[in-house]
Amino acid sequence: MDFPILDTQVYNHRLVYLDNAATTQKPRAVIETLTNYYLTLNSNIHRGAHYLAAQATERYEGVRRQVQAFINARSSNEIVFTRGTTESINLVASSFGRGFLKAGDEVIVSGMEHHSNIVPWQLACELAGASLRVIPFSDEGVLDLEAYRSLFTARTRIVACTHVSNTLGTINPVKEIVDIAHSHGVPVLIDGAQAVAHMKVDVQQIGCDFYCFSGHKMYAPMGVGVMYGREELLSQLPPYQGGGEMIKDVTFERTTYNELPFRFEAGTPSVGDVLGLGAAIDFMQEQGIEHIAHHEDELLHYATERLLTVPGMRLFGTAPHKAGVISFLIGEAHPYDVGTLLDKLGVAVRTGHHCTQPIMDRYGIPGTVRASFACYTTHDDVDALVAALNRIAPMLT
Ligand code: PMP
Repeated sequence: MDFPILDTQVYNHRLVYLDNAATTQKPRAVIETLTNYYLTLNSNIHRGAHYLAAQATERYEGVRRQVQAFINARSSNEIVFTRGTTESINLVASSFGRGFLKAGDEVIVSGMEHHSNIVPWQLACELAGASLRVIPFSDEGVLDLEAYRSLFTARTRIVACTHVSNTLGTINPVKEIVDIAHSHGVPVLIDGAQAVAHMKVDVQQIGCDFYCFSGHKMYAPMGVGVMYGREELLSQLPPYQGGGEMIKDVTFERTTYNELPFRFEAGTPSVGDVLGLGAAIDFMQEQGIEHIAHHEDELLHYATERLLTVPGMRLFGTAPHKAGVISFLIGEAHPYDVGTLLDKLGVAVRTGHHCTQPIMDRYGIPGTVRASFACYTTHDDVDALVAALNRIAPMLT
């Protein structure tokens, strides 16, 4: 595996990069795809009559088909390129809200959502006069499905839930969550930001209506993401942003809109980044997604066991089904202090609320230290984290 940035030295230590839930590093093949795009192919897509425009368009549309196959969507019309998960969720919340939410309606979200799967729904609810209902979770970080079932009323319009919690690591039973919602005739959006790089995702098997993710958390460049929408529902949503590309005909009296998926891709997209996403999918498929999942699962168990030997260790998120994300505190030490001391030893972790303040409120803590894994994370990296924690632990108490 070739990740040039992982050779970086930090304060005379080997970089131990354990902030993969925030963003993954990029393999050389992805970086070269981006560079080659600007060296040889740069052109605005779809509307050009010239050679470069045709080539760039072909490659861009090729990645759309690649993403379709990657998540097993029925049609490439269901794949909309966005800037990332945040934009994907805002697109759905805004369009669905305008199309389907009315005063008194209800939206169900889980208590372990990232702010980007809470705030867009709050904005949509505010506009419509609708309200949010929240699925609670246990101390271990497991969603309470009985409570979830009881949240449905005749006014429930949509459910939005994360596939994997970026703070607790919990892998939620998304198929069951979708089945329960569908039994009430309610569509479901799944936030896949923390799932796609770590496990095989099959949107038809899950049965969800929308599935959102970011390229940069799956070895692709920043600036590109995906909104999968089931065609039947997507075709009923009003447009999100207006502008070039999303229209068929424009007059001052009346505008008609383009077909799917272009109707939701107003303006010039980030073409080079989309091609980079294609290279990242190639990379993951070469590694083998099952292989990556198995590797990270093994590391999770190894790291959990080793971390529990550190004096004062308090883990947050101990669900039986977890991805490679470990949130912890050392005694009463502030997470920021732990993170800063680890950084001086070359260990990169994230500290704070991880854009999940309701989770912190649930546990009554200000934040956590979070170590998160990717395909290139090694046992040596875990050992370096544990050694660094043992070294700083006496300074923290
Ligand atoms: N949802 C989850 C679960 C996440 O972990 C993140 C990123 N931390 C997001 C949404 C937002 O992703 P982005 O910032 O790439 O739009």
